[in-house]
Amino acid sequence: MKTINIAIDGPGGAGKSSISKAIAADLGFIHVDTGAMYRAIALYAVRNECTAPEQIRARIKDIDIELKFIGGVQRVMLCGEDVTDYIRSPEVTMAASKVSAVPEVREHLFDLQKKIAAENNIIMDGRDIGSVVLPNADLKIYLTASAEERASRRYLELREKPDCPTYEEILADIQQRDYNDMHREIAPLTQAEDAVLLDTTSMGFNEVVEHISAMIREIMD
Ligand code: C5P
Repeated sequence: MKTINIAIDGPGGAGKSSISKAIAADLGFIHVDTGAMYRAIALYAVRNECTAPEQIRARIKDIDIELKFIGGVQRVMLCGEDVTDYIRSPEVTMAASKVSAVPEVREHLFDLQKKIAAENNIIMDGRDIGSVVLPNADLKIYLTASAEERASRRYLELREKPDCPTYEEILADIQQRDYNDMHREIAPLTQAEDAVLLDTTSMGFNEVVEHISAMIREIMD
């Protein structure tokens, strides 16, 4: 049976994951958050103090990553441990941005990502889904927003929490990650030629969900 594959790419903080999750729940698709896979490898690297490219390259074969879907919601397993709740710290976030530039790390996740897409109706979000992982996806979206808008959304999410970084720190972090993602040699963040560009700087969450859902329904008819 041919499965439906939707690719959503774009820079960090553009809302890819929360938007993909809402659409997937609505359509009964599986949402695959590939960033969580890179984050799980980064967590391994942080825990084992092997974040340098040559160190992570030497250990990559030992890093077993698996995804489980419980009620359609993704859990990421690192060597059998569910690490979904431990991969969002600033330290792991920055380490993910670094380890994802190592070709062996990307190769390690590539087959798993392709396999899930071949077996399920999915919305897969990441940086290189439309350009590298699923070049034949049924629909490709490049979701973006200005760095200032992404930083201010993140700041609003975090400001009630203890140790909330300043807006300027969040913005600097986003700009650094954008730079890393766009300038790495392998699978850099780029809009695939056949991807639909959606700039959400002035759009609300529901508006974006509706817009993309309508595009998906059109290709399913
Ligand atoms: O999307 P998220 O911020 O969770 O991704 C974490 C990191 O993993 C990003 O900074 C990015 O460098 C990397 N990534 C990637 N390719 C993907 C998904 C994420 O390089 N397909």
